[in-house]
Amino acid sequence: MDKEELWQAALAKIELSLSRPSFLTWFQETGISHIDSGVATVFVPNGFAREWLQNKYHKTILHAIREISSDVRDIHFMIGKPAGGGPSLKSDLTKKKRTQDSYLTDDAQQLKEFTVHPETNLNPRYVFSNFVVGSFNELAHAAAQSVIKNPGTSYNPLFIYGGVGLGKTHLIQAIGNELIQQRPNYKVKYVPSEKFMGEIVEALKNQEINRLKEKYRAVDLLIMDDIQFIARTEKMQEEFFHTFNALYEKNKQIIISSDRPPQAISTLEERLRSRFEGGMIADVGLPDFETRLTILKTKAEIKKIAIPEDVFVFIAENIKNNIRELEGALNRIVMASKLSNKPLDIDSAKRVISDHVSAPKKFISARKIIKAIAEFYEIEERDLVTRSRKKDFVKPRQIAMYLMRHELESSYPSIGDKFGGRDHTTAIHSCEKIGRELRISHELQEEIQIIKDRIYLD
Ligand code: ADP
Ligand code: MG
Repeated sequence: MDKEELWQAALAKIELSLSRPSFLTWFQETGISHIDSGVATVFVPNGFAREWLQNKYHKTILHAIREISSDVRDIHFMIGKPAGGGPSLKSDLTKKKRTQDSYLTDDAQQLKEFTVHPETNLNPRYVFSNFVVGSFNELAHAAAQSVIKNPGTSYNPLFIYGGVGLGKTHLIQAIGNELIQQRPNYKVKYVPSEKFMGEIVEALKNQEINRLKEKYRAVDLLIMDDIQFIARTEKMQEEFFHTFNALYEKNKQIIISSDRPPQAISTLEERLRSRFEGGMIADVGLPDFETRLTILKTKAEIKKIAIPEDVFVFIAENIKNNIRELEGALNRIVMASKLSNKPLDIDSAKRVISDHVSAPKKFISARKIIKAIAEFYEIEERDLVTRSRKKDFVKPRQIAMYLMRHELESSYPSIGDKFGGRDHTTAIHSCEKIGRELRISHELQEEIQIIKDRIYLD
């Protein structure tokens, strides 16, 4: 029996012991990569899935495999597909999934929520029905509603700014989703500015710049997220400026977000700045306590999780500056209680959150970071700190550098030094790269969260 058959047979058994939705959620895109001296290596799509399978289903999986092949003594998990593909559950699952949607649990629902529409690039989870409005985002929300009523007329462009994790992306995507809902033929494109820049670089290389321009100029609504990054290069600003004008002249709506107002983006060209200032500018501030509480309750309701009032209050009191972190704290508390099979109460909430809120930075060290990362990615600690360019080591190493920078506030030269005497520019490059990826990848956000939890836990 080859490894694919073995895995399929094992899955058939595993499926019996799990609810269908859990099965779909956690065994999506898994497979056996190889079996070596009695150890089967199971590949999973991300660290999140690996953590979960390792903690919750290790035994179940091992049992199922051993019932079919007693040669296997243990299993290991690895992230990612082995080179050459390897068998996977995916195609089969996607087929089944279509008929199963109404039946998905929160876990599965969450995965599904992350699927972005291929044409518009919009994420269907960003809608107004789950967007909480309070005094902190009232103006931005009202401006968004006006745009929906009369796109391309009065509030053009709409420029939304505010700090990290305060709902800019959610709001501007919700406008896109709402407009499509109301006008099925309306052409919307959402693009983070970094992606836009990447596409331009790629198009220039392949001499397809005209096609790219056409693509962006054929839309009714262009949503450009995190425009501040574009301001770093003149070439990109120029490209964007021309696209902007082409759309603007046709009365097409443009929505822009940024971490600060136009006048505070120092490298922003004057002609773009005055364009932005000619539209509507609205900020998103910090939610007050009551609003934080409402947001938490809304999230719990959507996930259909019962949570005691004092736990809500505790989270809302402790996490103030970032709605993403508010949500993250809630998820971690729920997850911790599921993993440990303990009730979700104020004590367990305190345990999970205090690790985070009063993160005792002085207790963590470079060693701890390296250890946690090596464990998470299942590589040797020494592979992280050598100069090897093997692909398996590059990303974990970059994350290690990133965490040293952000959790320990180490200097770039000293980070470079720790990783095989690399130059400080390498450290800067790594930290920036991970920082950029973090802004667009939920998967990476989760991986790093799990790693951080590990670092701060013991
Ligand atoms: P930003 O783009 O400003 O960094 P996001 O839009 O990515 O922030 O929001 C971070 C997280 O918080 C998302 O999961 C989003 O759904 C949630 N969120 C933000 N604002 C709200 C809100 N007003 N109501 C409900 N959820 C929100
Ligand atoms: Mg954003």
